[in-house]
Amino acid sequence: MIEQTISEVAPASSELGAAHLCLYGHFYQPPREDPFSGLIPSEPGAAPYDNFNAKITAECYRPNAMAGNFDEISFDLGPTLAAWLEQAHPDVYQRIIAADQRHMQRYGVGNALAQAYNHTILPLATRRDKLTQILWGLSDFRHRYGHPAHGMWLAETAVDMETLDILAQCGVTYTVLAPWQAATPIDPTEPYIIPLQAGRTMTVFFYNAPLSGGVSFDWNTTNDANIFAASYLPGHLVHDKRVAGEAQLILIATDGELYGHHKPWRDQFLTHLVRYGAPGYGFEICSLERYMALHPATREADLHVPSAWSCAHGVARWERGCDCTPGDSSWKGALRHALVQLAQQGDQLFEQYTSEVLHDPWEARNDYLSLRNGWQSPESFWARHGKEGYPPLNAQVARRTLQLLEAQYYQQYSFTSCGFFFEDLDRIEPRNNIAFARRAISLTWQALSVDLQRDFLHNLQVARSGRTPLTGADLYKQLPVVEQRLLPPL
Ligand SMILES: [Zn+2]
Repeated sequence: MIEQTISEVAPASSELGAAHLCLYGHFYQPPREDPFSGLIPSEPGAAPYDNFNAKITAECYRPNAMAGNFDEISFDLGPTLAAWLEQAHPDVYQRIIAADQRHMQRYGVGNALAQAYNHTILPLATRRDKLTQILWGLSDFRHRYGHPAHGMWLAETAVDMETLDILAQCGVTYTVLAPWQAATPIDPTEPYIIPLQAGRTMTVFFYNAPLSGGVSFDWNTTNDANIFAASYLPGHLVHDKRVAGEAQLILIATDGELYGHHKPWRDQFLTHLVRYGAPGYGFEICSLERYMALHPATREADLHVPSAWSCAHGVARWERGCDCTPGDSSWKGALRHALVQLAQQGDQLFEQYTSEVLHDPWEARNDYLSLRNGWQSPESFWARHGKEGYPPLNAQVARRTLQLLEAQYYQQYSFTSCGFFFEDLDRIEPRNNIAFARRAISLTWQALSVDLQRDFLHNLQVARSGRTPLTGADLYKQLPVVEQRLLPPL
């Protein structure tokens, strides 16, 4: 029925030239687990579900997976969400992974992209942390999908040149940015080459801003997939390319949770758009990687750096606060200062104490995720990174080294972007970042009996909620009680 209806109104496909459409979904949830217990505390706002991961799975991840939507789009599934989904809903997880594998079999390229591991705002991270975030994200992807990633989604599309250059050095060939991140005029119906150091390059797809915004924020836009294909899409094609029959691409990039969670039933809109509406109207549904293989970028662009898709002030939203969130957001700078100071102290101790047994502590950190998650054996890890091979001669020093690597792991979690995204400090997201930092403090205390808590609390006192009388130090003290021996005395 639907196909008939479209064929009556649709133009001959040649009228659109070689028009392609890509729907991109960024699927992501921050880690919600208590870092001491590993359990997700009950989230009353998610009722009748136990927590938001469960609620969003029921509303979005499951219906989109069951409808086969992941086969037709380009997407990234954030590592912290993928890890949870794999345990809690393995059937949904497997369908998402299988979609990329089918795409690979059909077209020789995948349709999934990797994500920087902890959804960290990479322009605000040190070079060393950028590299770890990117390598962990690529390692996580390879483990899950069974092949290396070529694309990487950057948290909040936050970018600077150093980030792109590290991406290129790690084998990533493309990413997605907002059109206003380009500093030179661009035509968003084609990908662009960003020149980097030493002849390296990165391909960037700039998404269509009005359509992506409409799908995200305007309820009426997504009422009917046929109307969307017939009335909204064609006007965004470049006329000359259309007439010449040249390939062009409309890219609609949004948070994936939009399809069913932020907007109920929009999973069905997505199904109809990619199966019937857009193809019926003459658009070819195409993943980013396939498009790049068929129609490589030919023109160069420059970027505004640092920049991101959800802040009009560089990356101030996550650094020191800006007008993108209402009220006094100066707590963001104070919270970041406290976390950066803690990380600097943690890094110094990590390097000092682990270099006794590790050839290069930072290379070992980059490889730690696979050890921690059991993708690499302890024998292999120590053979690669240990000065003494496996087993390490001094068991106590080996244990201390693993505790300090684990402290680094949670230190990375403490920079999750969500902690800085919203308007106030007294929310679950900043609390979680502080909880991850406390876990790093605990591991350092257990390993070395060095107290990093005192300075951290001192710095956190400066971060003040605008909504409640609480400071960051108050939030720290409200975290769940743990065994006394696990933390320095307050
Ligand atoms: Zn801003």
